Amino acid sequence: METEGPSAVSVRKTSLTPKAIIFQKFGKEAHYTVDEVPAAQHGCPGLAIPHKGPCLYRCSLQLPDFSVVSEICKKKKDAEQSAAEKAIEKLGIETSTDHPSAGEAFSKLTGCVKFLFSNEFLSSLHPLSGHFRAALQRDGDLYSSVPASIMAVYDSKLSNLCKIINPEAELNNILVISYIMRAAARLESVVTFEGQLSIRRKNPYPPNIIESLVIQQSDSANSICFQGIYIPCSLEKAVQSVTLDVSSTGYYLDVIAQKLGLTDGNKVLVSRTIGKTSSEMRLYFAAPKSFIFDLASDLPNVKGVANFEGLLNPRASYFIGQEIYGDAVLASIGYTWKSKDLFHEDITLKSYYRVLISLMPTGVYKLSRDAILMAELPVAFTSKTTWRGSFPREILSMFCRQHWLSEPVFIPLAASSESTRIHQKFVVPESAEQETECTEASGNLTSGQEMIRCEVKLFSKCQDLILECSPKELHKKESDSLQNASLKVLSWLNAYLKNPDMSLEMLNYSAGALDIRFYPQNFFKKFALCRSCHNVDHSESQRGRFLKSNSISGLDAVPEHGVCCLSIGGPDSGVCPSNGSLLFISYSVSLVIEAQNMKELLESKEEFEFEIGTGAVVSYIEAVITQMSVGQSACFNTQLPPQELILAVADDTARTRSLLSSEACCLEYSITLLSMTEPPEDRMEQALFSPPLSKQRVEYAVQHIKESCATTLVDFGCGSGSLLDSLLDYPTALEKIVGVDLSQKSLSRAAKILHSKLNSKLDPAVSYTGIKSAVLYDGSITVFDSRLCGFDIGTCLEVIEHMEEEDASLFGSIVLSCFRPRILIVSTPNYEYNVILQKSSLTSQEGDPDDKTESQPLKFRNHDHKFEWTREQFNRWASELAARHNYSVEFSGVGGSAGTEPGFASQIAVFRSRSETKEDNPQIDKEVTHHHRVIWEWDSSNCSRTAL
Ligand code: SAH
Ligand code: MG
Repeated sequence: METEGPSAVSVRKTSLTPKAIIFQKFGKEAHYTVDEVPAAQHGCPGLAIPHKGPCLYRCSLQLPDFSVVSEICKKKKDAEQSAAEKAIEKLGIETSTDHPSAGEAFSKLTGCVKFLFSNEFLSSLHPLSGHFRAALQRDGDLYSSVPASIMAVYDSKLSNLCKIINPEAELNNILVISYIMRAAARLESVVTFEGQLSIRRKNPYPPNIIESLVIQQSDSANSICFQGIYIPCSLEKAVQSVTLDVSSTGYYLDVIAQKLGLTDGNKVLVSRTIGKTSSEMRLYFAAPKSFIFDLASDLPNVKGVANFEGLLNPRASYFIGQEIYGDAVLASIGYTWKSKDLFHEDITLKSYYRVLISLMPTGVYKLSRDAILMAELPVAFTSKTTWRGSFPREILSMFCRQHWLSEPVFIPLAASSESTRIHQKFVVPESAEQETECTEASGNLTSGQEMIRCEVKLFSKCQDLILECSPKELHKKESDSLQNASLKVLSWLNAYLKNPDMSLEMLNYSAGALDIRFYPQNFFKKFALCRSCHNVDHSESQRGRFLKSNSISGLDAVPEHGVCCLSIGGPDSGVCPSNGSLLFISYSVSLVIEAQNMKELLESKEEFEFEIGTGAVVSYIEAVITQMSVGQSACFNTQLPPQELILAVADDTARTRSLLSSEACCLEYSITLLSMTEPPEDRMEQALFSPPLSKQRVEYAVQHIKESCATTLVDFGCGSGSLLDSLLDYPTALEKIVGVDLSQKSLSRAAKILHSKLNSKLDPAVSYTGIKSAVLYDGSITVFDSRLCGFDIGTCLEVIEHMEEEDASLFGSIVLSCFRPRILIVSTPNYEYNVILQKSSLTSQEGDPDDKTESQPLKFRNHDHKFEWTREQFNRWASELAARHNYSVEFSGVGGSAGTEPGFASQIAVFRSRSETKEDNPQIDKEVTHHHRVIWEWDSSNCSRTAL
C-alpha cells in the first residue's frame, strides 16, 4: 500500500532500471540518501496506527542541479528507484522501450509546447521558465516571444520527442527547432511568424500572474555584467574577450545577439553545454539565413542544412564538438533548476584555453595535477598508491561526457572462469609477497588470488559501439583492472586526437597494440569533427615550431635532442632514480624571449610527485632526470609546446599571445630532485625480472618436483597458494598436495582458487594433473603435526625471513628431524642483492654495484621481513642444519646468477635426505598428533568437500 507511488517502476517496460539510467547520465554525481520514516509519521491511510512493524524508507537523490525525494517505500532499494524515477521525469528523459510512432511523438511534442505557454509554467522553477519570464521584458514586437532555439536546448523532453520523430535530431539541433516550430504552428494558443524562429502566446497572461512576477524580478535586478569569449569564424582573427552587460535589458539573449551583429535574440542559435554536468557554458551563433528559409520548406534537408558552405566556424566547432556557423560567442549564463535568478559566470581567455585542453585526455590529466607544462597522462597504470592526479576511470567518464558519448561500460571478467590457458600464456603480474596485502588489511580485496581482467566499451548516445578494449593483463583487484583498461582507451584516444590525420592502417595498428578494437564507421561519425577541425587550434601557433615539438608526449619516447643547454648542478649523491620510484621534485617553467633577453615565469611548483618510468611527465623531464641524483638541480631549454598549453597557464593571455606570435621563444625548465621513495619489493622484482621473480621461484620448484618424481608435497608457509595453484598447470607425478600457513586470510584465498581449479580439472581430457587429494592446514610451521610427516618433497618459499631468526632455526630442526621430507627446498632473499634492486633502473641492471651506494644503509625488501640474510649467513644456517639431521645441501637461486656478484636475488637451498629408509623416527610417526586445523580439503574420489 505504501508503495503506491513507485508502482510505475514495475509497470515500466524498460531494460534499464531508473537508477541505471541516472547512473548513465550522472555517474558518481548522483548521491542517494535513504532515511527511515517512522510509520506513524507519514500519514499513510493504511498505516494510521503507529506500529512496530518493518521500517519505511524515503530516499532523496541529489543531482548536480536539483534534488528529488522519493515516495515512501518498504524497501530501501525501492525508495532509491523511486527517487531515480522522479528525477527522470523531471529531466524529461524518455525511457519507454515501446517507442511511440513518429506521429504519436509529434502530437506529444505539440502537447508539450502547449504546456510551456500555459499560466502554470510561467511561475514554475524550470530552466526554461526563466526565459519565458524574461521574454516579458522584451520590447516592441519581441514582447513575450521565446526563441525556439532556447526551447530546443533547455527542455530535454522536447528534444527527446524530436529524436523519436527523426533520430537525426540527436546530432542536429536545427531539426529540433524546426519540429518545435511545426508543433507550434498547429496550436491555437500560440503565434508563429513566417521566417521567424520564435513563438509567442496569443493571449496575454492574466495580470495577477504578471504582477507577482514583477515583484520577484525587481528583487533580483542587480547589475549583471560578465566576460564571454568571442570566437571569430575566420582563423585570421584572434579569439577575444567580450564584455556582456545584461543589466539594462530584460533578456540576455538579445545582448548576445548584438555582439553577433544581429538585431535580436530570435535569430540566435544555442549549442549544448560543455564541461561539467552543471555547466552553463554554451556557444551562441547566428542562425544561417538559408536555414530560416529552409524551415518554410516541407522538411529541412539535414545534409543541406548542415552544409553552409564556408560558414563552419572551425575553432568553435572543435570546442563544442558540434557544427557551429559563423562568428560565435562563448558565454556561461542561463536559468537553472536551482533558482529563479539568472546564473552567470566569467569566462576569461585563460579559462577558455583550459577548457580547450581538457578536450584531450592528457589535458584533463594535466589540469587534475595542476601542472600543465609538466604532467602527461601516464602510459602505464602500476598501482593506485603510486598514481597521482585524476584516475583513468574518472578521466574516461569525463571524456565521454564532454564528447557526448554514453557513460563507459565496464565488464570485469574473472580469469579463472575463462580458459586456464590464460594462466600459462600471459605474464601474470602476481606479487611475490601476498602478505603485504594481508598486513594492510585492505578492505577492497574482493577477489583474492583470483585474477581479474576488465573490458571497457564506449557507445555513442545512440548506443552505437564505438570501441572496445580487452586488455590481456590480469590484476588482483578489480579496480586496478578497470583503471588499466580505461588508461589504454585514453592513451589511444589521446594519440588519435593529437594526430587525427593518421591513416586507418596506423590507427588499427596502434589500437591493436593497446588491445583495442574500434569500429571506424561509428567512430568517425562521432569524431569526424575533430578530424576536420582539429588542427585549428594549433594554426594559431607558429606552425613550424609546433610541428617540431609536437612529439612532446608520453607516448613517443622523445630522445634527449629536444633538450638544449642542459646543465646539471650540485654534488652527485649517488642516489639515482630507478623505474618505479616515486620522485619528489620542485620545478619552474619560464617563457624565454630570446631576442629581448627576457624571461617570464609560467608555471612552478614547490613539490611535485610522480612515478618515474610511466610517462607521467613530459618526456624531456624523464630523459633529464634519469641522469640526476637526489639533491641535484638541472636547467635546460626546450621548444614550445602547442600554444594553447602556454596560454592555459599565462596570466596575461593577450600579451603572451602577442609575444608568441611576434618573437622567437622557447621554454626554460629548471628542476630540483628533492627526494625519492623506493618502490616496494614486488614492484622492484617485477620491474627488474622477466618473468617476475615470484614466477621464477615457482618454476624452479616445479623443475625439482618433476625431476624427483615426488608424489606427495607439502608447502610450508603456502600463503595464498601461488605455488600450489601453479602446480596444477604442470604435468607432474604429484598425487597429494598440502599447504600450511597461519594467515587465515591467505588460506581462504588459497582454498578458493584451488577449489575452483581442481573441480574444473576433473575432466582428464583437459587436465595435466593427477592430483587426487589436497589439504590446507591452519597452523605454525614451527609446531609438530604428525600429518605432515614422510612427504616426498617439502617447499618453503620466501617464508623464513618472516619469522624471528630463532623460529627459522626451530622450523629447520622440526622439519628435518620430524617431518623428514626426502627433499626440502627453502628460498629467502639475498640481502646483498638489495643494492641492485634499490638503485637500478631497467637500463642499468647489468652494471655491477657502484661503490657510492654501498655506504648507504640498506632497507629490507619488505616491511614484514624480520631479517634478510647474506649468502654467507644463509649458507651457514643451512649447512649446519643439514649436517645435524643427515641431509646434504646444495645452493642456488633465481634472478641474477651464481657467478656474478652479488649472486642471486632469491637464494635457494635444496636439502636431500641421506638415509635410505623413509622412517627414521618411528616413535613420532606412530604417535598421532594433530595440532593444525583443516581449513579445506579436496578429494577426487568422493568429489569434493569444503570445511571453511
Ligand atoms: N610461500 C608463499 C608465501 C610467502 S609469504 C609464496 O611464495 O608466495 C610468507 C608466508 O609465510 C605468509 O603467508 C605468512 O603467513 C607465512 N608464515 C610466516 N610465519 C609462519 C609460521 N610460523 N607458520 C606458518 N606460516 C608462516
Ligand atoms: Mg618475503
